[in-house]
Parts: sequence; structure tokens; C-alpha cells
Amino acid sequence: MRSTPPGEIPRPTPPEPVLQVRGLIKRYGTKTAVDGLDLTARAGVTAVLGPNGAGKTTTVETCEGYRRPDAGTVRVLGLDPVREAAALRPRIGVMLQSGGVYSGARADEMLRHMAKLHAHPLDVDALIERLGLGSCGRTTYRRLSGGQQQRLALAMAVVGRPELVFLDEPTAGLDPQARRSTWELVRELRADGVSVVLTTHAMDEAEQLADDVAIIDAGRVVAQGSPEELCRGGAENTLRFTGRSGLDLASLLKALPTDTAAVELAPGSYRLTGTVDPQLLATVTSWCAQHGVMPDQLSVERHTLEDVFLELTGKELRA
Ligand code: ATP
Repeated sequence: MRSTPPGEIPRPTPPEPVLQVRGLIKRYGTKTAVDGLDLTARAGVTAVLGPNGAGKTTTVETCEGYRRPDAGTVRVLGLDPVREAAALRPRIGVMLQSGGVYSGARADEMLRHMAKLHAHPLDVDALIERLGLGSCGRTTYRRLSGGQQQRLALAMAVVGRPELVFLDEPTAGLDPQARRSTWELVRELRADGVSVVLTTHAMDEAEQLADDVAIIDAGRVVAQGSPEELCRGGAENTLRFTGRSGLDLASLLKALPTDTAAVELAPGSYRLTGTVDPQLLATVTSWCAQHGVMPDQLSVERHTLEDVFLELTGKELRA
């Protein structure tokens, strides 16, 4: 172990990743679904985004131990999900899209049964209420609506109070209220120290919930970072303002970073593009003040994850 020299404040070691995937390759016959994918997820909420067919589900199912990698390594909570499945299973929660459930069983029975398999489960009744399943506890699985089945799958994944939970498109097809309560539950899990890896097509979901976002395209991670980092580092942002016409833009640009572009779109209507950060905003307003210009209707258009995704892959997230 490295000792800290006298007087030096020890640097906190970053927590072990909850998920570490290196060079993952997974083929179905001649189709390469995952093509040398590297992904690290740390404590908190990691969203895996990508268009249809990008390889999200294959990657997650490999991490859950349901599929064997053709090449590469996968470690979940430090364990190999296939060889060390017996040790790993009690520590993770998995939200299955369908299947794995006896369709004649009652919702509350299934949840209670699942809870009994774990040492420190969540309170089943509270969870049923939390997810708005109170009215359908005694209903058999096959008679639940699609949205209710989905919320039950979520409840089954989290009832054992796992250290890490995998949620595959947890809110797809849910009504806005159910979507909100699912988001609330994910936030509560996170606050409770549970790590979450969630796959989604929904940008707003990733922006609302995720500490970290991995964008997957064609079987690889093409970008990873916090939503803010991805938006900052991706597409250019835009600043607009109006003022008197014919401003000396060459003089303004001299005061700005070289990657900034400026144009007078219409008399007195200006648009700047580039890395629009607080420093740039301050420089523009100060230049305006020096030149007796009142920058009216000043606005900043920040790019969304969707813009970043489009720029990186040329594809819409919803294929
Ligand atoms: P979606 O958002 O549509 O769920 P995804 O990103 O989860 O997509 P995967 O389901 O992992 O993507 O699929 C990746 C690729 O592998 C796709 O081209 C898909 O058709 C293919 N694929 C997935 N499962 C199988 C399978 N069991 N047999 C053959 N091909 C498969």
C-alpha cells in the first residue's frame, strides 16, 4: 500500500467501478451486435443511450450474466457475471422486459416471494403503493395492463435492496404519472446508495436521472460523461442578441476565442456560435458596454444530449 508522505493530505481513492466492461464482443451468427465495447459505470445512475439495434440490451444482458461474451471481459461489482453468478445474483436487481414470470401468479404474491429470497428486502406494501400497484395486488400477472406489468417488473428488480440494479427502458410506454413515480423511485434508490444502470431512448430521462451517460452506436461507446460534460463538449452552442445594426463584428471577434463565429443575420440581429460559456458571455457584454451597445434579447441556446447524439452518430435516437 502506498503511504502518504508527512504533511500531504491523502487523496481519496475513487470508488471501485460497479461495472467494468473491456473490449466486449458479442455476435449472433454473422451479426456483430457488440463490437469491442468499453464501459465503466461508477456508483450513482448511469444511463446507456442509443438507437434501436445499437447493442444496449446485448451489453446489459451480458453484464447480468444471461449472455456469454465472445471476447472481452466483464466485471460487475468486481465479479465475473457468468463464472461467479452465484455470488453476484443476490447483489444485483434485474428488470426483465418480459418473461421469467409465471403469468397465473398474483402481483403481490410474486413480490412477496421475491422479497423472501433476500436478507434485507424493502417493505413490500410500501413499494406496491409507491408504484401505484395498490389496486392490482391481487390481480394475476396476465391480467395486468402493459404499464402495470412494467411497474411490477421494476418492483421485482428493486425489492431485494440490491447494490446495483439494471433497468431496461423502465418507463417505455408508461403514462406521464407512472413515469414520474418511476423517476422518483430511481432517485430514492440512488439516495439510498443503490447504483443504477438504465438503458433508455428517452433523452429527458437521461438528463433528469443520470450522473453519467454512455452513448452507444453500432456496438461501441461513442461518448461518455455527465450530461453537462457531453453537452459542453459536443455540438457548438449559440448566443443571440439584438442591438443597433452594423456592429463591427471583426472587433468583437478579436476579443473572443478563435473558435467563435459571429454573423449579423438581419439588421441588428446577431448570432454567435462556438463554446458559449460564462467567460464568453462576460466578454460579449463587456464589449457591448465599451461600444455603447445594449444587447437586447440576449439568449443562450444550449445543445441537448439529442443534438450531441446526432452530431456523433448522424442518427436520431428514436429510430
Ligand atoms: P433496442 O433499442 O431496439 O432494444 P438495442 O440497442 O438494445 O436495441 P440489441 O437488442 O442489443 O440492441 O441488438 C443489437 C443487434 O443484435 C441488433 O442488430 C439485433 O437485431 C441483433 N440481435 C439482438 N438479439 C439477437 C438474437 N438473439 N439473435 C440475433 N440477432 C440479435
